[in-house]
Amino acid sequence: MNNFQYKRVSSPLAAITELSKNPAAKLIAGGTNLVDLMKYGVMAPEKLVDVNHLNFDTITKKDGLLHIGATVRNAVASENADVLKYQPLLSQAMLAGASAQLRNKATMGGNLLQRTRCGYFYDVSAPCNKRVPGSGCGAMEGYNRMHAIFGASSSCIAVNPSDMNVALTALDAVILVSGPKGDRKIPISEFHRLPGTHPELDTTLDKKEIITGINIPDNNFAAHTTYLKVRDRISYAFALISVAVALDLEGTTIRDIRLAMGGVAHKPWRLKEAEQMLKGKEATVENFKMAAELAMKGAKAYEHNAFKLKLAPNTMVQALKTASGIKG
Ligand SMILES: Cc1cc2nc3c(=O)[nH]c(=O)nc-3n(C[C@H](O)[C@H](O)[C@H](O)COP(=O)(O)OP(=O)(O)OC[C@H]3O[C@@H](n4cnc5c(N)ncnc54)[C@H](O)[C@@H]3O)c2cc1C
Repeated sequence: MNNFQYKRVSSPLAAITELSKNPAAKLIAGGTNLVDLMKYGVMAPEKLVDVNHLNFDTITKKDGLLHIGATVRNAVASENADVLKYQPLLSQAMLAGASAQLRNKATMGGNLLQRTRCGYFYDVSAPCNKRVPGSGCGAMEGYNRMHAIFGASSSCIAVNPSDMNVALTALDAVILVSGPKGDRKIPISEFHRLPGTHPELDTTLDKKEIITGINIPDNNFAAHTTYLKVRDRISYAFALISVAVALDLEGTTIRDIRLAMGGVAHKPWRLKEAEQMLKGKEATVENFKMAAELAMKGAKAYEHNAFKLKLAPNTMVQALKTASGIKG
């Protein structure tokens, strides 16, 4: 690991000033991703700016929003009474991620920005356009079992590894950020990016901006949510496919619906066409299968991940069945 400086800041302005002064500085929160990346030599920040002592550690429910501060631990958020009551999908997704120990350290801001788990990104001897722009993509012709089936480019086929981000995408969360030019609110659909020709950029966050919190607007989904994650091990493994479902049911009719998939793209993958198709329809397995077929439009597999073309729609149908209470 390279030498680095460490600075603890106590105000958002001090954090922004540190980032503005030194382009090679990085914020550190729980450190569960960044420190690993530094140990592997994937990232080598000159300075770590510790955000753990900023006042971003509260969860509040008011004015039609659930607000979760950026430094709230994933364990705290997933067990919070308001999260469980108003946004249980978020809790389900976070509890499907990592391990209890990791969730005790991991923060909301850090989870939003955790980097891909593509093996070629972590292997500094391999080409990777995300790690070293212009060096090529080892995964394209390599071992690409975990990789994207939607939205990839000729530069990068990596996926966003976060479970939390999939639920936040389904719930239309808004990311609150602060920077030298002031505050802004970024809808999560515009926060993570597709790789295009710049896979080194995971998000639209400016390098000098910090995340201060997350807002989730109220909804009527709390009674019918499911986060279904398919992975190689039951815990401590990233999603091969995951599906977040939130339903507003009137009897067996779908009044409103949100659907998002994880493990399939460089950003959490919202399934808007499938949502549109199911809105106003009966919650039946037949309708779920038709929606899953629609959701897979445009999917493209690589040598080792063709199984995802079947696993993804099957997971989606199963998640919809569970959320709507259909047994089996
Ligand atoms: C063994 C293992 C298994 C895991 N399994 C899963 C899993 O199954 N599912 C899953 O979703 N995740 C999993 N994770 C990932 C884990 O959830 C993330 O490492 C964690 O959420 C990152 O949060 P952190 O606070 O530790 O971030 P850090 O490591 O501190 O930071 C991560 C990034 O976020 C930036 N950052 C942090 N806070 C802010 C802020 N306020 N503003 C701007 N930038 C900020 C940092 O600069 C850094 O770039 C796993 C991790 C490990 C090590």
